[in-house]
Amino acid sequence: MSKGIYPLFKLILGLGNKDIEQINKTALIYAKNNIQMIDCALSVFEPLKSFLIQNNIDVSKIKFCTSIALLGDVHNKKAKINKNCKRCNKCKDICSQKAIENFNNELKVNTIKCCGCRACEKVCKNNAVDIYEINTYDDDLEQIKSFKKNCSNLIPDVLEVHLSIKKRKKILKEFEQILKIFRGDISICLSRKYFGIEKAIKIINELKELFDKYNKNSEFYVQLDGSSINNANSEYKSNLEALAFLSSVENLPYKFIISGGINDKIIELCKLLNLKPYGFAFGSWARKIAHDEELVRKFVNDTAEFYA
Ligand code: SF4
Ligand code: SF4
Repeated sequence: MSKGIYPLFKLILGLGNKDIEQINKTALIYAKNNIQMIDCALSVFEPLKSFLIQNNIDVSKIKFCTSIALLGDVHNKKAKINKNCKRCNKCKDICSQKAIENFNNELKVNTIKCCGCRACEKVCKNNAVDIYEINTYDDDLEQIKSFKKNCSNLIPDVLEVHLSIKKRKKILKEFEQILKIFRGDISICLSRKYFGIEKAIKIINELKELFDKYNKNSEFYVQLDGSSINNANSEYKSNLEALAFLSSVENLPYKFIISGGINDKIIELCKLLNLKPYGFAFGSWARKIAHDEELVRKFVNDTAEFYA
């Protein structure tokens, strides 16, 4: 296997997820099963790479990606439990990150583990979960600049830019600022939350034009987000928004990766709809089945067969 084999499998470990033990464990299982891109927070980038090397993974075959989310994008969220909590534990049981913990008879969210998926908010009948926004944008930008200055070999291969915010001009302006400091592969990640399909296509084309101005020799991926950070279960409906987005833009000449709710039902649906995205990005669902290596292997093999 070499970098860039099609279809591309990407593992998303969560922009807000800093739980290095869980990250290492999950990444190792997927790295043993031909995952070609791993997306994690900048701060866990170095320990993860070292851990995989220690476990005999050839990291030169994996593209390492980190994400940056514009302020306002859904990827910068955390949960907090408030005083309405009745300690029924439903949120604790559903949290795929095991981020809800007991502290002196109270439930609290461990923000290091929380990836903002909102599953706890949805399951709580007592209005006891608040979701709030954190701003990591400026810090992440500074870190990318400092990597470059220090000529570190930890510069990500791919920078993913989550830019699902309302203002088109702001998207273009921030994207250009990023392109000025990061030379490498770029993945833009966009949902249809704020745009109709025509506007989404216009923005994708404008972003590609900007990319070509600064970065002609690298890859440009377009990650189509279905339902972002949705704690995906193994069900058909979870995949539909990403596939609907793909079916509207598939004739554009870009490398489309689908994400946001993607699970093991995706290949079946792709067959039915005759769609072959360039790649698949697995987040919540992958982390949930992280311990079932057999299932991971089967899924990767079945998908490769469909593309053969
Ligand atoms: S589901 Fe709601 S009420 Fe139950 S433990 Fe969680 S926050 Fe508290
Ligand atoms: S369910 Fe999701 S949002 Fe809630 S604490 Fe767990 S990771 Fe955070």
